[in-house]
Amino acid sequence: MGKNECDVLVVGGGPAGLSTAIALRQRGADVLLADALTPPIDKACGEGIMPDSRSDLARLGIELPESRGAEFRGIRFCDSRSSVSAVFPSTRGLGLRRTVLHQLLADHAADAGVRFAWKTSVKAVPGQPITLNGEPVRYKILVGADGQSSRIRTWAGLDQGSLLSRRFGFRVHYRIAPWTSSVEVHWAPTGQAYVTPISENEICVAMVSRSLSGARSRDLIESIPELRNRLRGAEIITRERGAITTTLRLRRVVRGNVALVGDASGSADAITGEGLAMGFRQAILLADALHLSMGNEGLSLYQRGHASIMRQPQAMARILLLMDRWPLLRDRVLCAFASDPAVFQTLLNVHIGEKPLRQFLLRQAPTLGLRLLLPSLA
Ligand SMILES: Cc1cc2nc3c(=O)[nH]c(=O)nc-3n(C[C@H](O)[C@H](O)[C@H](O)COP(=O)(O)OP(=O)(O)OC[C@H]3O[C@@H](n4cnc5c(N)ncnc54)[C@H](O)[C@@H]3O)c2cc1C
Repeated sequence: MGKNECDVLVVGGGPAGLSTAIALRQRGADVLLADALTPPIDKACGEGIMPDSRSDLARLGIELPESRGAEFRGIRFCDSRSSVSAVFPSTRGLGLRRTVLHQLLADHAADAGVRFAWKTSVKAVPGQPITLNGEPVRYKILVGADGQSSRIRTWAGLDQGSLLSRRFGFRVHYRIAPWTSSVEVHWAPTGQAYVTPISENEICVAMVSRSLSGARSRDLIESIPELRNRLRGAEIITRERGAITTTLRLRRVVRGNVALVGDASGSADAITGEGLAMGFRQAILLADALHLSMGNEGLSLYQRGHASIMRQPQAMARILLLMDRWPLLRDRVLCAFASDPAVFQTLLNVHIGEKPLRQFLLRQAPTLGLRLLLPSLA
């Protein structure tokens, strides 16, 4: 095919775009991927690859090398009064610098035969054809993987939906030996700090808050005595990087021959740690659907499956953001988890897809509800 001609044009070469390109190539499609930047592309992120994300990547034939990051065994939630931990039942998570993850995915896509147009400005003006660096492009299917402010989404008329939450995040790396083998979520009055071990002498700290000033790293860390003490004197080794995290539910992610993946197709707040996993799952689903039919039928299958991929992470985001907004609820939930860690363990298992939600609702939700109403039971 010609330089600007392909079966599938993927706009956006972040984790979702790259994994979609890989999945499509594996099913034989000719794929051209365009991005304004060049690898490795950095982005503010908690840098925790959850076990379910690792399994999704394994389905794409990508094994993340442990030697490039640091494995973590579970999740710890804590505030100034309570602390509770749960471990992943089978696979471990992996803390990995975003740039390392991006380069690994880009290398894998190159090996799979994806054609790239890096450093390419993609123009998507409603009513006009898409151009790459001002040149026309021919494709059968267009995939918008261009992140949360997706222009392809607007171009295709797919912006309708509900913005359920919007928060500010900052990320910074410290040179310090990790003191924990979990991802720690420290709850503070103005937001949360997530600590992810990413090598034997580095950690990533992501701060997320409803207000921009609340998310400024040092302020949030200073408000959490445990973190303030641990990080005192530790060298900051990267420039602070910020981003907005949203929970966005779109009415549709498909129109005509256009499909959206990754953050372009909706999102769940960063606190879920599921942003990457959702993108990888959508990549596999879209490639499978288009393999069955490179047209409307395939895209309708994708639309249906996409909704079920988003359901649970978005529900979890809403619950966790209630805790963010209501201090009394947060105190009671954390106290209840701390006094009965099995509940927290089950919730984690549900979150990473190891247990059905039904099991939690039937067995543990009633007791948890009672504990929240009558905290003296905790
Ligand atoms: C503070 C924070 C912490 C997070 N922590 C985690 C975590 O620990 N674990 C997790 O799984 N998820 C986490 N997430 C979410 C995760 O980072 C996102 O879900 C993920 O980056 C989405 O990937 P994507 O490929 O859809 O979009 P992006 O990574 O945003 O990639 C979009 C790409 O499109 C390109 N692009 C955009 N417009 C154009 C254009 N017009 N022309 C050409 N190229 C274009 C951009 O250059 C970019 O490369 C976090 C998010 C935030 C904000």
